[in-house]
Amino acid sequence: MQIYINGKFYPKEEAKVSVFDHGYLYGDGIYETLRAYGGMVFKLDEHIGRLQRSAFAMELKLPLGANGFNKAVNDTIKENGLSEAYVRITVSRGPGEIGLDPELCPEPTVVIIAKEFKEYPPEMYAKGVKVAVVQTRRNHPECLNPAIKSTNFLNNIFAKMEAKRAGAYEGIMLNHAGFVAEGTISNVFMVRRGELVTPPAIEGILVGVTREVVVKLAGGLGITVSEEPFTEVQMRQADEVFLTNTTMEVMPVTTVDGHAVGSGSPGDVARRLRSAYREEVIRCLRVR
Ligand code: PLP
Repeated sequence: MQIYINGKFYPKEEAKVSVFDHGYLYGDGIYETLRAYGGMVFKLDEHIGRLQRSAFAMELKLPLGANGFNKAVNDTIKENGLSEAYVRITVSRGPGEIGLDPELCPEPTVVIIAKEFKEYPPEMYAKGVKVAVVQTRRNHPECLNPAIKSTNFLNNIFAKMEAKRAGAYEGIMLNHAGFVAEGTISNVFMVRRGELVTPPAIEGILVGVTREVVVKLAGGLGITVSEEPFTEVQMRQADEVFLTNTTMEVMPVTTVDGHAVGSGSPGDVARRLRSAYREEVIRCLRVR
């Protein structure tokens, strides 16, 4: 496995960053997770756009422009001879003296890891997954805005630990006001009387690239989508619940805190959206 670090490739065993890197010392960094199908990354421009917005929000000057990141990602996939791939771009503040001041770090560190994508077990889609609403609240946007895809991930890690203890695949975090925000690594949708509902950005979420694709696809399928706050009780009473992210795509949820959602089996809307998503991947990557 060849890892990209600041413009060069290193074998996995030799791919190292400094212990003085502020990404390591303080979680001062940002990242993106991408998915390549047949060697091509789906929604690459959108992911790089979000990386740029995250960088802007933390006043980090990226060492590469959009074209530079685009090429670096594609070179990393090629260098590793990958077709179905998981790709992670991490940009940290870079190495510098100990201290919080970002000015201590003259050069950010850019790392790109690409590895073979392992499909989720088919039974997860066939049966749906369990989620647990956790006690850990999603970061308040005025503390650390969830819109920044930050490597400062302790908020989500605490939620994941709770979810694991509850025997759930994903933990659903509420926001500071008690409304459903998002999963530890996913966005949440519910279906109510045939309509799709997902929390709006203002509730303090990471606006997923997959979420955006799914919202558009739902429109194309004639499904009404509304971005409005909802509670965990409303989610439990929904006809369907599903999660979205770049690697899961559309993952049905059949149990919330031990209660069956709808019929207790994956719903029709999630199924239709998942197949529409796959068609969209093929359509986008064919026309590039
Ligand atoms: N919310 C959080 C907290 C995430 O970490 C992720 C992805 O990792 C998402 C939502 C979904 O984002 P995307 O669809 O861009 O993968």
